[in-house]
Amino acid sequence: MSDEVAKAQAAAPGGDTIFGKILRKEIPCNFIYEDEQVVAFHDVNPQAPTHFLVIPRKTLDMLSNVKQEDEQLLGHMLFVANKVATDLGLKNGYRVVINNGPDGAQSVFHLHVHVMGGRQMTWPPG
Ligand code: AMP
Repeated sequence: MSDEVAKAQAAAPGGDTIFGKILRKEIPCNFIYEDEQVVAFHDVNPQAPTHFLVIPRKTLDMLSNVKQEDEQLLGHMLFVANKVATDLGLKNGYRVVINNGPDGAQSVFHLHVHVMGGRQMTWPPG
């Protein structure tokens, strides 16, 4: 089992997360994009030459717990994912991933979109 999967298996929804601390500026983080709904920042453990996260300011733990009232926000997260990817020069494509729950290898229970690019991705994912 990889470290990432072990971390994901040990993680659980509920409570504060490292992303909550980032949003409250309790731990430092350089935002590469921010607006009233979302922020984006580089992943601390990049899996590609470019790897950033888009997270909502609203506390939502995981995709499977979102409500209909979050529909616009989910669309906005993808809109921003593409905007930042374009701004960072990912002209040849990129991958967007949302890990959901233990089987999805989610380790931080604050909803986030991964955007990875700058290399050829393969399929299927691990
Ligand atoms: P996931 O496994 O989908 O929950 O992904 C969580 C991601 O958050 C991982 O890719 C981590 O590398 C990343 N991460 C954890 N802490 C930080 C941090 N302080 N700053 C940036 N990325 C982080």
